[in-house]
Amino acid sequence: MSIQVTNLTKVYGAQRAIDGISFTLRPGEIVGFLGPNGAGKSTTMKILTGYLKASSGSAQVADFDVAEQPMPARRSIGYLPEHNPLYLDMYVREFLQFSGKLYGLSGDSLKSRVDEMVRMCGLESEKHKKIGQLSKGYRQRVGLAQSFLHDPSVLILDEPTTGLDPNQILEIRDLIRTAGKNKTVLFSTHIMQEVEALCDRVIIINKGKVVSDSSLQTLRESG
Ligand code: ADP
Ligand code: ADP
Repeated sequence: MSIQVTNLTKVYGAQRAIDGISFTLRPGEIVGFLGPNGAGKSTTMKILTGYLKASSGSAQVADFDVAEQPMPARRSIGYLPEHNPLYLDMYVREFLQFSGKLYGLSGDSLKSRVDEMVRMCGLESEKHKKIGQLSKGYRQRVGLAQSFLHDPSVLILDEPTTGLDPNQILEIRDLIRTAGKNKTVLFSTHIMQEVEALCDRVIIINKGKVVSDSSLQTLRESG
């Protein structure tokens, strides 16, 4: 399995943000993680990426237990947080080079990887600008380029299209499709159309529990 979540629970004070969640993603699947605001999507994703400790249960990514082996797990993951802290004063290329170094890339391989990501993410025209000068759509592309840099086998994308205009949404979807080829992708959204446009399967979460996990076809047939 590329992702295996077993009975995961996270409690904040008196509140159960997630409450006994289990699901799996096989290699190569693109799965939507659908639910309203506050359902527990970000919490689950932060645990999967090792940024948050679960209260109980386990999370495995690329066969690494995230709590026990956070570093190899993280190297397998491209994570786009919902509120991605980009360095607004850095130039696009400079930022991507800086990010690549954090993943241990260097020298010519870093440079060529950054060039490849700039091309793939449609950032050619923006590469000499500072991130602070970019539109929201382009900033999101920088965030995606950053998450793809180390060629991870698993992409965990938290609401990648939220707050974008319809045109930008289409562009980001295309990019996720391109970048997600032969990778396992879990992406969260509160919009069903997003799932229909991209996914094989949808896991629906509400109030910290998985309420449905099925292929899109099954979901359509059941109305
Ligand atoms: P979603 O990503 O689906 O919008 P979240 O995972 O962000 O949901 O939040 C799930 C629930 O946990 C919400 O009720 C939210 O207010 C709560 N929550 C999230 N982070 C914290 C935190 N650091 N402290 C307390 N409650 C939190
Ligand atoms: P995200 O869903 O990406 O975490 P939010 O805007 O929901 O973004 O939360 C921003 C920050 O505030 C996060 O670190 C989150 O854990 C925290 N947070 C969210 N909800 C609550 C809450 N009810 N109480 C305390 N902290 C919260």
